[in-house]
Amino acid sequence: MFIVAHPVTLIPGDGIGPEVADATVLALEATGIEIEWDRVELNAELIGRAGQVLPPHVLESLESTRTGLKGPVATPIAGGFPSVNVALRKKLDLYANVRPVRGLPGLKTRFDDVKIDMIIFRENTEDLYSGLEHEVVKDVVTSLKVITRTASLRIAHQAFRYAKTNGRHKVAAVHKANIMKLADGLFLRCCREVAELYPEIEYKELIVDNAAMQLVVRPETFDILLLPNLYGDIVSDLAAGLVGGLGVAPGANIGERHAVFEAVHGSAPDIAGKGLANPTALMLSAAMMLIHLKEPKAAERLTAAIEAVYAGREHLTGDVGGTAGTAEFTSAVVAHLRR
Ligand code: NAD
Repeated sequence: MFIVAHPVTLIPGDGIGPEVADATVLALEATGIEIEWDRVELNAELIGRAGQVLPPHVLESLESTRTGLKGPVATPIAGGFPSVNVALRKKLDLYANVRPVRGLPGLKTRFDDVKIDMIIFRENTEDLYSGLEHEVVKDVVTSLKVITRTASLRIAHQAFRYAKTNGRHKVAAVHKANIMKLADGLFLRCCREVAELYPEIEYKELIVDNAAMQLVVRPETFDILLLPNLYGDIVSDLAAGLVGGLGVAPGANIGERHAVFEAVHGSAPDIAGKGLANPTALMLSAAMMLIHLKEPKAAERLTAAIEAVYAGREHLTGDVGGTAGTAEFTSAVVAHLRR
């Protein structure tokens, strides 16, 4: 049979990015799926040198492959160049940030006794991430929160469509419309409008501070969460903490033409280069990518191999209570896939 390789742009990124990216490539190879990688560098050092947040070679590659697997890219704090991650999402109009939050077998957490299985749908292109800030007069700064009907409707459609096609039952929209009556009010009105098209899906609304508390106290009651950009970013890390931390939280950035798969975590400078990083989050993001590439069986096999390693508990990395490094965990996943 003639097998066509899937073209994918690989962006290893900064910090632990190259370590978890290499590990994920090995796991993908072991699934037997043919991928034609176009490896492009995108990191803080290169951006500093190029003087461009999104160098043309990165966009050209993604324009041609339309699919990316991306490690984290560091962003300077309180100054320096703007976030590459935000710029990429905006440039390619990757409007839906989809982040499943699931417990792994055998992984000890503070929430062992409950089943956590939720999916976060975070609007990915606007809100306070518009980057529109300005100093009105010395020591007085404004930051624009942009909420549009178009972007709010399309993320709401994405969340409800997913719920319907994947047998999910509940969508909770998260907001602060009691204070930001116009901005979050518009977001909520769009969510309600879409909810009406899906009477079979239970719809509710939660103020973001209450949502944060409910997530910690009753995480098992959440199914799909629908949020504007900033709340989605914060709640994603909170939710990752419920199931074992950032090392196990995958994600996808989806647009009409392109999709870029990346973990929730950042470049983790505290452990970069030490061989300690947990590649699970990027491997699970790669499983999401395989589904996108219409390779669901390979996605299942990759997920099953990761779960088997967790169930065995022997080869887990330090962030999830083990003593293994990136290489040992990766070898265990690869060995399961080759079995
Ligand atoms: P971080 O996610 O990099 O790290 C937070 C903590 O989690 C650290 O203690 C780190 O060691 C740990 N951690 C994260 N991923 C891990 C993994 N795979 N295995 C084991 N431990 C892991 O968050 P931060 O320190 O706030 O951010 C560092 C940099 O990353 C910043 O420059 C930030 O802008 C950038 N960032 C990038 C992205 C992205 O590229 N999508 C996302 C978030 C943060």
